[in-house]
Amino acid sequence: MPLLRGSQKLDEVLEKRVQEMLADEQYLDHPMREVLQQLWCSVAWQLARLERITNISDRYQNAARERVRLLSRRYDRQIRLLERVLRISDRYQSMLKDLNVALHEASTHDLLTGIANRRLMSESCRQADERSLADGSTYSLVVLDADHFKLVNDTYGHDFGDRMLVELAQKFKTSIRDQDLCARWGGEEFLGLFADADLHEAEVVVQRLLTAVRLIALDCDGAEVGITASIGLAQHVSGETYADTFRRADEALLVAKRRGRDRYVVAP
Ligand code: GH3
Ligand code: MG
Ligand code: MG
Repeated sequence: MPLLRGSQKLDEVLEKRVQEMLADEQYLDHPMREVLQQLWCSVAWQLARLERITNISDRYQNAARERVRLLSRRYDRQIRLLERVLRISDRYQSMLKDLNVALHEASTHDLLTGIANRRLMSESCRQADERSLADGSTYSLVVLDADHFKLVNDTYGHDFGDRMLVELAQKFKTSIRDQDLCARWGGEEFLGLFADADLHEAEVVVQRLLTAVRLIALDCDGAEVGITASIGLAQHVSGETYADTFRRADEALLVAKRRGRDRYVVAP
């Protein structure tokens, strides 16, 4: 800065002149000499003091700047750490969500066939009972049992029997309407819940299902193996629980078996 440099220069010139005057012998007895000497000492002392204060202030400012720098570095580190924790927590939560879905799927679906299991079906039947009580709606239950399945296992092996159960489940699932539910009730037995369906509507679906089962031709070492199934069908009537309706459908199934299998019987 030219101004500062100018004033520094002025100070230096003044100092030089004062020093020269104090050293000049012709002024030794001058009455102002002592006053000038004292004034000059006082100025020097003030300057030294000012410099000390400036140094202290500089040190203080440097320390403050360093503190701010350290704090800002620590803050940045903590922000980065927080971001990592949040990312981990997001991943953890999404894993938990996936696990929850998988657990729910496992607890409500059959491991082998992938369709609903007995637990989900029982709950759905219970809800159908509640709905029936509330609004008088009806539903039909369809019990399907694979014919001579023990023979299938004995002849082609248990693994082939499993494949056949998967195929039966698929046929059941694709034969019913969107609002219906089919489940593996146990072993080689399946249960269908046809919402808002009277016997006439249920029979249409059951006939389609029996035809689909008859068309099954599963390959076993080059041979095509077929299967048939028997079905018992009952419509829920008011005052019944689903367990009552199921019992009537199951009895109808036994009648179908007795009459020679590969057919359906409607419960009275
Ligand atoms: P029916 O026509 O009278 O129903 O005769 P069935 O042989 O089908 O009936 P049964 O009750 O005598 O035999 C059922 C067979 O189903 C016996 C059992 O080993 C088989 N089974 C049950 N669950 C499974 C399974 O998960 N996989 C396989 N491969 N077989 C099963
Ligand atoms: Mg059977
Ligand atoms: Mg059975």
